[in-house]
Amino acid sequence: MRRPPLAAAGLGLAVVGLALAPDSSSFDLLGHSLGPLVRDVRVFNDFEDAAANDNLVPDPMFPGATGAPLAIWKAAVEWGSALHGDGTGDPTQFDGLGSGEANFDFSWQGLALGPGGLTDNTHSALHADDVGVLAFAEFGQGGWRIRYYENWTWDDGPGAIPAQHYDLQSCAAHELGHALGLGHSSFLTTMSAVQSGGDTSKRSLLGDDRAGVQAIYGVRSVTKPRITSASWDGLQLTIAGTGFAATGNEVWFTRAQPSPSGQVPRVDGVPSSGSGTLLMVTVPPEAGSGDVLVRIPGPGGGATLSNAWPVTLACEPIVSTCPTTANSAGAGAVLSAVTTQSVSANDLALHASGVVPNQFGLVFYGASAASLPVAGGTLCIGAPLYRLAPVQASAQGQLGVTVDLTAPPAGAGTIQPGQTWLFQLWYRDPAGGAGSDFSNALAIPFCP
Ligand SMILES: [Zn+2]
Repeated sequence: MRRPPLAAAGLGLAVVGLALAPDSSSFDLLGHSLGPLVRDVRVFNDFEDAAANDNLVPDPMFPGATGAPLAIWKAAVEWGSALHGDGTGDPTQFDGLGSGEANFDFSWQGLALGPGGLTDNTHSALHADDVGVLAFAEFGQGGWRIRYYENWTWDDGPGAIPAQHYDLQSCAAHELGHALGLGHSSFLTTMSAVQSGGDTSKRSLLGDDRAGVQAIYGVRSVTKPRITSASWDGLQLTIAGTGFAATGNEVWFTRAQPSPSGQVPRVDGVPSSGSGTLLMVTVPPEAGSGDVLVRIPGPGGGATLSNAWPVTLACEPIVSTCPTTANSAGAGAVLSAVTTQSVSANDLALHASGVVPNQFGLVFYGASAASLPVAGGTLCIGAPLYRLAPVQASAQGQLGVTVDLTAPPAGAGTIQPGQTWLFQLWYRDPAGGAGSDFSNALAIPFCP
């Protein structure tokens, strides 16, 4: 990708030409293509400009990513066979993200640990200057690498950007076109050779770009598997769609942690139900929030791989659900938790402060919320309630309990991945009018 020469007025004519002659094409092919298993895209996030990583607003269609990785992920899905999730995520693009309509879909693999080699399919900054080139793609045998010169000010958007900044998402979309095997177009499209400061228009593929990617990978096959929704219960991922094989499906995930290779975490041999419309798969431990894809058996190359669909595979945050009430010692007992929320890690520890000094209390838990005035406070959890052993507060009014998730009280109240349980402390307060009181309650979602 080049920046424009000082006089770039000629570019306007190309737009007119495209509008007047919709049947003509201008895309150019470099002569290479990516094999059906080469779909990973990663980012080594060493961009130095603050503007390259200042978009900290999470996007539900791009779970787990912000900043430069988020902008580059959006650029990748634009080349996909179908809308990425509901297509939202780019405020400059009103027809949605994912308009390639070819047998091609990238698999987002999150962060890389370095710029990698020529087949590591990684984006990174290049800490060098160039007077005319913004970024470039390099190719190895069956892969690519994309570098961005650091002398330009890169901007991660997501909306309009200042005229002196260069749009990372636009440039990434262009360079990924090269990785796919496209050369430059003489039309003013994603694959035109120049990108001006402040220009965000290359984020969105136009007809010529679409024709180019379809010329390499084929028009989206009618038998290509298609994901239309996915939901996670903390353990199992349920994927709905069309065109899944009866047996032998592969489900591809995004790797949770940065890795030296772009190897895609995947589960093989997954059967479908509902005439190829439903898959259920246990999420492997190395997978994290990102995209999921389904590959069916067969020789069809990219036609056997589905669109990429976003999934959130992380615990929701712990929430304090109901306020504490004042006691004879002060403002009231405050319950907090230290935990990974992982059932297999079994590391839940609860701590309370502001308890009446030296008095006994007990933590109890349940699955449903309530709001019932009891004693000096509010009971915030509905029956059935499960009680942990009583503990005595310190002279400073603090107490702590660890919860063994493998040994629930009286064998009941077993905590499973995907469930949310409420925890609250009841404690004695002899000097308070009612004799006892309650802390706030915590809603803790549990994960595998
Ligand atoms: Zn280029």
